[in-house]
Amino acid sequence: MRVYNFSAGPAMLPLPVLERARSELTDWQGSGMSVMEVSHRGKAFVETARRAEATLRELLAVPANYRVLFLAGGATLQFSAIPMNLAPPGATVDYVHTGAWSKKALGEAGRYARVNVAADAKDSGYFAIPPEASWRRDPSAAYLHYTPNETIGGVEFPFIPDSGSVPLVADCSSTILSRPLDVARFGLIYAGAQKNIGPSGLTLVIVREDLLGRARDGTPSVLDYRAVAAEGSMLNTPPTFAWYLAGLVFDWLKGEGGLAAMERRNREKAETLYRYIDASGFYSNPVAPACRSWMNVPFRLAVAGLEQRFAEEAAREGLTNLEGHRSVGGMRASLYNAMPLEGVRALVGFMSEFARRNG
Ligand code: PMP
Repeated sequence: MRVYNFSAGPAMLPLPVLERARSELTDWQGSGMSVMEVSHRGKAFVETARRAEATLRELLAVPANYRVLFLAGGATLQFSAIPMNLAPPGATVDYVHTGAWSKKALGEAGRYARVNVAADAKDSGYFAIPPEASWRRDPSAAYLHYTPNETIGGVEFPFIPDSGSVPLVADCSSTILSRPLDVARFGLIYAGAQKNIGPSGLTLVIVREDLLGRARDGTPSVLDYRAVAAEGSMLNTPPTFAWYLAGLVFDWLKGEGGLAAMERRNREKAETLYRYIDASGFYSNPVAPACRSWMNVPFRLAVAGLEQRFAEEAAREGLTNLEGHRSVGGMRASLYNAMPLEGVRALVGFMSEFARRNG
């Protein structure tokens, strides 16, 4: 029995993707082996890898002057790889601090560069995005980094910052592929796979070509974007199964109508849940309405101490992983691409029933 899994990541994957992977698990493309057992340098895998990239490029309309890298190490490793590649020693880098993940990103960057916190959402309790006009950027910064969607806080940028000639760098881990994105606005986009792309263990980097070849001395080759790009992300053995599965997810997305269709679906899912929360009188979401995440919806209950019961009863109804992040408590429902509207409707149904019994 499949449940509606509201986890923030690793997250729910589309059932047709899992079924396809299962059907070819033990004998992939007539090889008599699983895709996990074939050489990453063999013709069949190289073609699969190439196709995955091509489909991703098509979905996101990635311009020709961008390279797509399929890497290991999670988004967290990119917190270091980015300053190692883009900030020369002694450089200043701009970071917008909007929550837990931007804090981690700027903490790592501080080991390699001087971090200028161009804006800090502290005054709003990290429940809103500081208006761009209030940011204090360093005109000489090597890049401007931000986190379009804060997975824990459920706070999302309603705009793409205008970084001028400074490369814009975005941690799109929890928002990539949820709607169309104008890639040309960015110098570099990165995302851990385990939300909207596929299994954990894979990280996508989409980087403008002119930013390759700037890695500082001492950067490990596997973190040097130019070296990795030159080898087609196969400088060493890539996470082959995750890459293959990401390709299946990209095919699924295309079959579902691409990112414009995802945008319509995701908007409806998020609006359904927020509308219910706001009207319920029992649940609340603390985020400024203009900055509410479509992907991660944190909410609190009006009566303290009921969180565990809520999560347990929900799980019995097949609605799982609704506990908030351990650092903030409360509840959180993540609504990535693979979560259907029916899952959100089932959640709202459970929530209203729970409120009726406990309100
Ligand atoms: N950035 C964001 C926005 C995230 O949500 C996460 C993981 N939840 C990370 C970075 C860290 O990703 P990873 O575990 O792949 O290193």
